Amino acid sequence: MIEFRAAASDGLTADAIVVGVGEGRRFDATGAALSEKMPWLSAHLDEAEFTGKVGQVAVVPGGDAVPYRKVALAGLGPAPDVEQVRRAAGGAARSLSKSVTVATSLHRAVPAAAEAVGGGFVLGAYTFTRHKTEKKPSAIATVVLIEGTPAEVAAAAIGGLVGDGVNLARDLINEPAMEKSPATLAARATAIATEFGLGIRILDEKQIVAERLGGLRGVSLGAANPPRLVELRYEPPGATAFLAVVGKGIVFDSGGLSLKTADNMETMKTDMSGAAAVFAAIRTIAALRLTVKVVGIAPLTENMPGGAAMRPGDVVRARNGKTIEVLNTDAEGRLILADGLSLAAEQKPDLILDLATLTGAISIALGEKIAGLFGTEDAVEAVAGAAAAAGERVWRMPLPDDYRKNIDSDVADMKNTGTRYGGAINAALLLKEFVGDVPWAHLDIAGPARAGEAEHYIAKGGTGFGVRTIVELARRMG
Ligand code: MN
Ligand code: MN
Repeated sequence: MIEFRAAASDGLTADAIVVGVGEGRRFDATGAALSEKMPWLSAHLDEAEFTGKVGQVAVVPGGDAVPYRKVALAGLGPAPDVEQVRRAAGGAARSLSKSVTVATSLHRAVPAAAEAVGGGFVLGAYTFTRHKTEKKPSAIATVVLIEGTPAEVAAAAIGGLVGDGVNLARDLINEPAMEKSPATLAARATAIATEFGLGIRILDEKQIVAERLGGLRGVSLGAANPPRLVELRYEPPGATAFLAVVGKGIVFDSGGLSLKTADNMETMKTDMSGAAAVFAAIRTIAALRLTVKVVGIAPLTENMPGGAAMRPGDVVRARNGKTIEVLNTDAEGRLILADGLSLAAEQKPDLILDLATLTGAISIALGEKIAGLFGTEDAVEAVAGAAAAAGERVWRMPLPDDYRKNIDSDVADMKNTGTRYGGAINAALLLKEFVGDVPWAHLDIAGPARAGEAEHYIAKGGTGFGVRTIVELARRMG
C-alpha cells in the first residue's frame, strides 16, 4: 500500500523526485528549478537522448545540489493527457523501485490527473514475488504531491485504491494453477466478502448439478479438482442501479481432450483473468462505497483431459435450457459463461458485463493490447465510455445476425465451434443466446489480459485488465 500526501516545494526532501517533461524537453516549474540547481543535467539528458517523448524515463543522481538522491524525468509527449500522466507515473515507479519516499510534480501537467498519478504509481510498483526465495518488492511507500491540494491527495488515494484492486487481480492471475483450485479461489472470494460485508453464495459440484449448470459441469468432468460457482453481492443502501459482472474462471485450460500444444499451454493459468477482474473490481467498488448494486458471478473450473472428460460430440444443457454440442473441448469458456450469463440474466440487472479470455481470434484481429467489445447498443456505449475514462483500450466489434448460422448444430440448439474466420464473433454470438433481453456487453480480453513484457505501468504477466473499466462503469451507474 502506497501512502499519498502533499508538501510544499520549499524544504521538501525525498529519496527521489519525479518530474514530468513535455516533448522538446519542456520543464514545469519544478523541473525548471531543478535544472537551475543541476547545471550538468542538460548534458546528461543529451547523452541519454531524452527529449520528453511519451514513455521515456531518465533517472539521474541528484548529487549535493538537491535534496533527492535520484531525479527521474518522465516524458509526457507533445500534448500530455491523463493516460500519459498515468504511464509516466508507472514508468517512473518501475525505475525507482529502491526509493522509499518519492516526490512528484506530475499532477501539475494535466488538469484532474492526480487520480492517474496515484494509479500509475501503485500499478508501476507491482511485483509478483510470492514464489521467489529472494524477494525484491518495490520499496516505494510514500508518494508526495508537490504543492498538492487536499482534493488532489484524495484523488491520488482513490487512484491508488483502484490500482490496489488491479494488483489483487494480477496476483490471482499470476498464481500457478496448482495454488488456485476452484475451491481455493472460492475461499479467496469468501475472505473478500467477510472483509467488506458482501453477500456470497458458493455452489459446489453437487449444487452445480442441482442448479442445472450443465456447461460448467461438462467442462469440469475431466478435472480431479471439483468446480465451484461463486456469486458475490454488494448491495449498499440507497442503490437504484444494478450491475451484474460475469467472469470466465478457467483456472487452467489444457484444452481438454482437444488438447493444446505444450507451447499454447504455458500461459493457461491466466485463463481465469475474467473471474479475477470480477473479484477484484467488486472488492474495489465496496472499498469505494459506491452507491450501486453489483453482483459478480464467476464459474470456476479446470479444463482437463481426465478419463471422465467431456468428449467431442457431447451435448450439454445450460442453465437457461438451451443445448450446446461440444465439437471442440478447447472452446470451453463459452460453455461456462452460458451458465454464468443465464444466472445473471435471471436477476434482471440494468446491465450485464462479461469478461473472458475467450478466443485467440480476437488477438488476431486486435493484437495483444486491445480488448474486443461486443453486445447490445446501450450496454456497449456505456462500457466503451467507462473504458476510455479508465484508460483501458477496447474496440467495438459487430454481432451480425446472418453469422448465427455459423454456430448451427445438427443435433443441438447450437455448437461451440464455428467457421475459422470471425471466431471471436462466433463465440460472442453464442454468448448472446444466454442473456435474454438484458442489456449486455462482452469483453473478449484474450489479448490484453496478459503482457509479454513490462511497459509503463504494466508488469510482465497478468495485467488485471478490466478491473478499472468495471469500477468506472459502477461509478457512472451509481
Ligand atoms: Mn480453451
Ligand atoms: Mn480457455
